[in-house]
Amino acid sequence: MKKTVSFIMTVFVGGLLSITNSAVAQKKVTCPECHGSKKSVEQCSECRKGAVYCTTCNYTGKIRTRCSSCNGSGYTSRTVKKTCPDCNGQRFFRKDSPVKCSDCGGSGKVSLGRTVGGHAYNCRRCGGSGQVNNYINVACRTCGASGYSGTETIREKCNNCDNGYVVTQCSKCNGTGAYMCTRCKGYEYISVDCRRCRGEGVIYVYSE
Ligand SMILES: [Zn+2]
Ligand SMILES: [Zn+2]
Ligand SMILES: [Zn+2]
Ligand SMILES: [Zn+2]
Ligand SMILES: [Zn+2]
Ligand SMILES: [Zn+2]
Repeated sequence: MKKTVSFIMTVFVGGLLSITNSAVAQKKVTCPECHGSKKSVEQCSECRKGAVYCTTCNYTGKIRTRCSSCNGSGYTSRTVKKTCPDCNGQRFFRKDSPVKCSDCGGSGKVSLGRTVGGHAYNCRRCGGSGQVNNYINVACRTCGASGYSGTETIREKCNNCDNGYVVTQCSKCNGTGAYMCTRCKGYEYISVDCRRCRGEGVIYVYSE
């Protein structure tokens, strides 16, 4: 099929001919519709100005598909270790385990001077208690000093989509929402056989 159609072209095929039979006279004349070109131009019925609207994307050029990562929910969940609630993840407790004061030997009293039976004063180091602070780290029993106890499921917004849907460019129309008509190849008009002369270029008329 020709891509461009010149319907202005007026080819005069055959001119006027006369066929005479026994009864009626028939004249063969150039088709007045196509002027003998045998073709006429019609607007393509399968498109709009050479373009076909893409129904795959509903003319938007975009395809919205359900996100496979979150199955369309918009959220993903993952299981993580839960921080031990007892030690708050610190693994150890600092605990005071007092020991005997080395200055007073645990008595809490010291005597001044060498005289036996002299006045005894409270030991300065332990303040008379006989014991001094001794901080030690005690492993958390709940978590076995790991800092974690059990697991918990965290729900997070899916970062692969927008509220459960992924928008991609329509591959059928390359994101334009329409594509070129294959019938008229985007020309909007197509060349068809002239309807009046059925593509013959001539018609027969009865002459008296
Ligand atoms: Zn014609
Ligand atoms: Zn499309
Ligand atoms: Zn998602
Ligand atoms: Zn713990
Ligand atoms: Zn002491
Ligand atoms: Zn068309």
